[in-house]
Amino acid sequence: MSDLLARDAELLWHPYSSLSSPSPVRLVRGASGVRLQLDDGAGGTVEAIDAMASWWCMIHGYRHPVLDAAVKSQVDSFSHVMFGGLTHEPAIRLASRLVEITPDPLQHVFFCDSGSVSVEVAIKLALQYQVARGRVGRTRMLTVRGGYHGDTFAPMSVCDPVNGMHSLFTGALKEQVFGPQPPADFDRSMDDPELQSWADAISALAAEHSDEIAAIIVEPVLQGAGGMYPYSPACLRVLRDLADRHGFLLIFDEIATGFGRTGTLFASEHAGVDPDILCVGKALTGGYLTLAAMLCTTEVASVVSNGPGGALMHGPTFMGNPLACAVALASLNLLLSQDWAARVRSISAGLSSGLSGALELPAVKDVRVIGAVGVVQLNGPVDLPTMTDAALRRGVWVRPFRDLVYTMPPYICTPGDITTITEAIVGAVEEAG
Ligand SMILES: *Cc1c(COP(=O)(O)O)cnc(C)c1O
Repeated sequence: MSDLLARDAELLWHPYSSLSSPSPVRLVRGASGVRLQLDDGAGGTVEAIDAMASWWCMIHGYRHPVLDAAVKSQVDSFSHVMFGGLTHEPAIRLASRLVEITPDPLQHVFFCDSGSVSVEVAIKLALQYQVARGRVGRTRMLTVRGGYHGDTFAPMSVCDPVNGMHSLFTGALKEQVFGPQPPADFDRSMDDPELQSWADAISALAAEHSDEIAAIIVEPVLQGAGGMYPYSPACLRVLRDLADRHGFLLIFDEIATGFGRTGTLFASEHAGVDPDILCVGKALTGGYLTLAAMLCTTEVASVVSNGPGGALMHGPTFMGNPLACAVALASLNLLLSQDWAARVRSISAGLSSGLSGALELPAVKDVRVIGAVGVVQLNGPVDLPTMTDAALRRGVWVRPFRDLVYTMPPYICTPGDITTITEAIVGAVEEAG
């Protein structure tokens, strides 16, 4: 096993990694339910609850019999066919299901391989829409600070310009219009003065740049990798009004928040606001295969389809991959066949009570919980290897970033698993924070 890890260090990029000073990685021997089996470096294995659900994805846990069966059965039928000129039942059934469960106006589906690509396609669609409407010059996106929308170039351009990756790529990225970050906290009403001044600021910006802006793009209610930051649904109503007033499209990136994570099936439901374009990914396949989707309204689809070019100009090689669609359909059906909202509420309650003690620790600045997401924010940057080790010794896998130790556990976690997770996080922060 030390041979394997040595080869890994020589050969492989990991996410946001350096090859000259690679941070430690652990070898996974197996995974089932909510647990990873990790090589302990001494010929044995050590088990840890995956408090990250493999970055939001693995909502039903590892090796779920229903999802395993869906993949196997599709393999026995066919694993892939090109989507140009051909189609298949898994894609058609999955698209129907997505249209059924997402906000009503969303009626058409574009499948692609990853969240970032779905954001690329959403932005492309918005640009084509404005061209088709004859509004030339509307080539910029309006967004708010603190966002994260993926790692390819168009998504990077709408990530937070300071904490995102803007600074390294200055000059290479499209310069978008950035409004202030919405004030923190889910529970703020429209008459809250801070929310009101945020609304004034973003409205002024929208008016100033209205001739240049094609669409607004945000992560509704919870900013994820930009800072694990919940904000009020009232902000989404402000953005919907601005889009309607100025002829922008409204894009919701629900790649992280989709499929129940914040307590409603889609985070936009907290606000009762429908986007014109929606991106979903991550938990879509229950974490089995890479797949994302962009959904849009009939109005947007028909304007673009009747515009110059007469087509949406995108078509990935692995578009609508049948294995991914089959397992995504099985995952959605599994989710919706149970009282997922009660599960998320119970995880939420467990995270709130279990993490609240962290507030008393000197290293801790803030504790926040929204849906099945729990966040402990420290006063300074986390020492990643130390914090990871401290949590692993307590039986839990976490992957902190910046000043944030956080969890978005699989929905199948028992109350006991949630207690293990919160005790490990609080204990690790106490030891290593
Ligand atoms: C993860 C994420 C993306 C990017 O998805 P990938 O599949 O990693 O390309 C985009 N937007 C949000 C909100 C995300 O959380």
